Amino acid sequence: MDRLWHCQGMPAPTSRTSHDTDATGDGPGAGAAAAPVGSAAEPAGSAGPVSRPGPIGSSGHFGLTGPGPTGRAVPNPARQASIRNANLALLYRLILDAPAPISRASLAAATGVTRATASTLADTLLEAGLITEVSPPPATGAGRPAAGLVPAAGGPAGLGLEINVDYLAACVVDLTGAVRSTVIRHGDQRDRAVSDVLADLAVLGADATAEAGLGIAGAAVAVPGLVENPHGRIRRAPNLAWQDFEIGAELRRVLPDTPFEPVIGNEADFAALAEAHAGPDTYVDSEARAVLGTQTADGAPGTASVEQPIPLTDFLYVSGEIGVGAGVILGRELFRGARGWAGEIGHITVEPDGALCRCGARGCLETVAGLEALHRDGPEAAAPGLGRAAAAAVNLLDLPAVVLGGVYARPEFAALVPGVRKALAEHVISARWAPVTVHVSRRGTAAAVTGAATAVVRRVHADPAAWMSAALTA
Ligand SMILES: [Zn+2]
Repeated sequence: MDRLWHCQGMPAPTSRTSHDTDATGDGPGAGAAAAPVGSAAEPAGSAGPVSRPGPIGSSGHFGLTGPGPTGRAVPNPARQASIRNANLALLYRLILDAPAPISRASLAAATGVTRATASTLADTLLEAGLITEVSPPPATGAGRPAAGLVPAAGGPAGLGLEINVDYLAACVVDLTGAVRSTVIRHGDQRDRAVSDVLADLAVLGADATAEAGLGIAGAAVAVPGLVENPHGRIRRAPNLAWQDFEIGAELRRVLPDTPFEPVIGNEADFAALAEAHAGPDTYVDSEARAVLGTQTADGAPGTASVEQPIPLTDFLYVSGEIGVGAGVILGRELFRGARGWAGEIGHITVEPDGALCRCGARGCLETVAGLEALHRDGPEAAAPGLGRAAAAAVNLLDLPAVVLGGVYARPEFAALVPGVRKALAEHVISARWAPVTVHVSRRGTAAAVTGAATAVVRRVHADPAAWMSAALTA
C-alpha cells in the first residue's frame, strides 16, 4: 500500500479490493477514489511518492462530495466520471510509452492497482478501438506468458491537411504514430478562390483517407500565416494574399463529419511539433554527437566515453517555403506566444533597405531566404541572412539548436548549412561556450502536414475519453 496516495484527514483504505473497485470511477462507493494524473487533483499532504504521476486507484478526496448523513462519503457521479477519464488517460499513456507490448499485470504493477482494475480500464480502451492485444511470445519457462497491449494501428487516425503557396497536401497518421499515406499536389494556390482551394484540399484528404483505409478522428489544417481557433480564422497569410476571414465553417462543409471538429494552425508550428516528436535518433549526426548528443557514463557532458543518442527537446525550427516561418520548441512542446502567433521569423528585418516584402515591410528574411530568393540568388547568398535571423531568436530565447526544414532540407540547398552555422557562431553571444547546433530536418516538405495529422493523434492520446465521447455523438 505504500505506493498509494492517502488524502490528508482521511483514513487509509483498508481494503485493496474496494479501493480498486472505485478506481475506474464506476464503483458504487467513493471512499478511495483515484487522483487523476498530472492534474490539480493530486491530494495535498499525500503520504505517497510525489516524483511520479499519481497512480491509478490512489486514495484522494476526488469523487467525494464530503461525508453523508451517516458520516460516510457519498459518491458524486460527475467527479467519478472525471476520475475514470483521467485513469483511462494514464493507462493509455503507459501503453503508448511502453517499449514493448505491455500486459495487464504489468500495467497493474506500474500503477499499483489490482489486475482487475487495470483490465477493466484496458477493456474500455480495447472496445473503443484505441489499443489492441497481441499474442504473447513463445513460453520460455514455467507459466503461460501474458498477451500484450499496444496502440491500435487500425484505430482512429489523424488527418493532416496543408495549404501552401505552391502545393496542397494531405496525410494520415495512425495511433502508433506511423504515417499511413501522404498525398501532395503541386500547383500555385495564389489568386485562387478560397472555396476552390478548400474543395481541392477535401478531395486530397479523401484520397489520403482512402489510401490509409482508416477511420478519421479529426482533421488539422496547416496554413502559412497567422491563424486563430476555434473559428478557424486566418488573420493574415501574406503569400496567399489571404486576410481576415474564417475557413472553419467552410472546412466543416467540405470535410466529412469526424468526432473532432477540424482545427487550423500555422504550418511551421505543426512542422516543429512533428520534429519534436520524431524518434530519438532523428538528430544524431556527427555534430550532435560532438556537442549535444553525448554524455559520459556518469552523465556529465563533454568528451564522451559512452555515446548515447539524445533527442533535441529545445530548438528553433525554421521552415523555408515561398515564405519563411518558424516554430519554437521548449521541452518538446510548442511555444505559441500570447495569441498563438509566435515564430514569424520570416518578417524579421535582415536588410533595412532591402526589397519590399509581401507583408509591406522592407528587407524581411523572406525576401532574402524564401524559395524564390533561393532560386534566384542561390543558398550561399541566403545563408547569412537566415543565420542572422536565427541568431536573433537564439539570443532571445536561449535555444541550443536550429533545425532547417521545408525546402531548406532539400539536398540542392545543402550549402545553407555551413553559412547558417557560421552566422550563428558570429552572432550568438554564448556560442563560444555552447555552440548552437544546426540540423537538417529529415521530414522535409512533409513535416507540416505530418505534424498536423500527428496533432490530431496526440489529442486522442491525451484524452481517450474525450474521443470516445465525441465518437458517440458524431
Ligand atoms: Zn515581411
